[in-house]
Amino acid sequence: MPRPVSIKDAYQDGRLALSFELFPPKTAESEAAMWSTVDELASYGPALVTCTYGAGGSTRGRTLEVIEGVRRRHDVPVASHLTCVGSSIDDLRGYLSEARQRGVAAIVALRGDPPQGATSFQPVAGGLRYAAELVALIRAEFPQFAILVAGYPETHQEATSPEADLENLRRKCAAGGDVVITQLFYDNADFFRFRDRCQALGISAPIVPGVMPVTNYAQIRRIAALCKARLPESFTSAFEAAGNDEAAQFEAGVTFAARQVEELIAGGVPGIHFYVLNRSPATVRVLGHVGLKPASRS
Ligand SMILES: Cc1cc2nc3c(=O)[nH]c(=O)nc-3n(C[C@H](O)[C@H](O)[C@H](O)COP(=O)(O)OP(=O)(O)OC[C@H]3O[C@@H](n4cnc5c(N)ncnc54)[C@H](O)[C@@H]3O)c2cc1C
Repeated sequence: MPRPVSIKDAYQDGRLALSFELFPPKTAESEAAMWSTVDELASYGPALVTCTYGAGGSTRGRTLEVIEGVRRRHDVPVASHLTCVGSSIDDLRGYLSEARQRGVAAIVALRGDPPQGATSFQPVAGGLRYAAELVALIRAEFPQFAILVAGYPETHQEATSPEADLENLRRKCAAGGDVVITQLFYDNADFFRFRDRCQALGISAPIVPGVMPVTNYAQIRRIAALCKARLPESFTSAFEAAGNDEAAQFEAGVTFAARQVEELIAGGVPGIHFYVLNRSPATVRVLGHVGLKPASRS
């Protein structure tokens, strides 16, 4: 049965909604790798394929090219990430108009990070300060887009408190956010606690855990440090046992992510958002482990 057209419905129809996050590739070789990833993952019937928006808006044209390419190739719903960094409201309107023309179904509406070296986020003149403002702009002027917003099971690093951060998420949903996608995390207890607190605050949007299967320990230590994700002892010890053996690290990463996803599904999540980093082998192994198979392979 085809997926429902509404993105929000896809997270509420009782089936597990899969989404896959890409980033704009920089070289011809990495682009070819991305397309074979897309071709493989599209056969799982994703609810959404998304593409990041480069820090500082650096790859904004490429984001739309990638996402339109995915849609044309596989006719799956696609979402563009969009940040407020470096853009005036008119720039944002221009991007959203182009996204609409290119058949984008949804926007992952974000504030973006402060530039490297800066301690706080400063909007450009005539720009927006918080993601909630971008959500409100999209809802008012581009109502056809579904809107996804970011949530932080371990609290956003700039938030003054977990309560203030959750209040911000409530504001983003009240402004029009349809679905929450979380930052990556490695301890499911953090996610379940976060979900309970969101529900207690009256946030009714589906809350979708973001999962990044790790295949390289050095890489995840870097990423986790950047987004301040805690690496639990069960996770680090699995990788330490693998030592410098790349194949053993891959297996350790797949096994950990498979258990994580299994527990999340058992905990009733509406979907899983995979940070695939343009490569499919680990994600495909995890999906196989939890019994998810391609719907159709050509
Ligand atoms: C699923 C996902 C996808 C992402 N994709 C990208 C991407 O494509 N490109 C990219 O550059 N980055 C991306 N990011 C990273 C994101 O841009 C950063 O985490 C950024 O620092 C915060 O963005 P936000 O939308 O959560 O901001 P906001 O929701 O605006 O929150 C930012 C901070 O401000 C605080 N805050 C919000 N409103 C108020 C207020 N009224 N008063 C005081 N404090 C307030 C919040 O608590 C938080 O600490 C992504 C993150 C996630 C989880």
